[in-house]
Amino acid sequence: MEDCIFCKIIAGDIPGDVVYRDDDVLAFRDINPVAPTHILIVPLQHIVTVADIPDDGFSLAGKMIQVAKNLAVQEEIAEKGYRLVINSGEQGGQIVRHLHMHLIGGRELSTKLG
Ligand code: AMP
Repeated sequence: MEDCIFCKIIAGDIPGDVVYRDDDVLAFRDINPVAPTHILIVPLQHIVTVADIPDDGFSLAGKMIQVAKNLAVQEEIAEKGYRLVINSGEQGGQIVRHLHMHLIGGRELSTKLG
């Protein structure tokens, strides 16, 4: 998708603070972090929302969680805990229309959601 900012980071057309890459996903630091660790894990494939994940594509969602788990260890936040968030669609608060999982941690997070 030529006008997708995350596709541009994936393609290397704009810079991203990349912390992990494999054949399926890219992980990079959020440009506007809300906590000491704030990493976005995105599929290389341009999928817009959770609703757009094909029925046979959920191994990708599992992979995103696996990468988040490993990055949490790397970031030394695994022991104390962290939050994984996927905002999906307009009312879900999704601003960038390329599926992404937020890995947020490194401080006490609010128990309030929504
Ligand atoms: P969401 O509301 O779930 O769509 O969150 C989108 C996230 O992408 C926000 O936390 C932004 O700070 C982040 N973001 C937007 N542009 C960039 C960028 N160029 N590099 C890194 N993070 C970005």
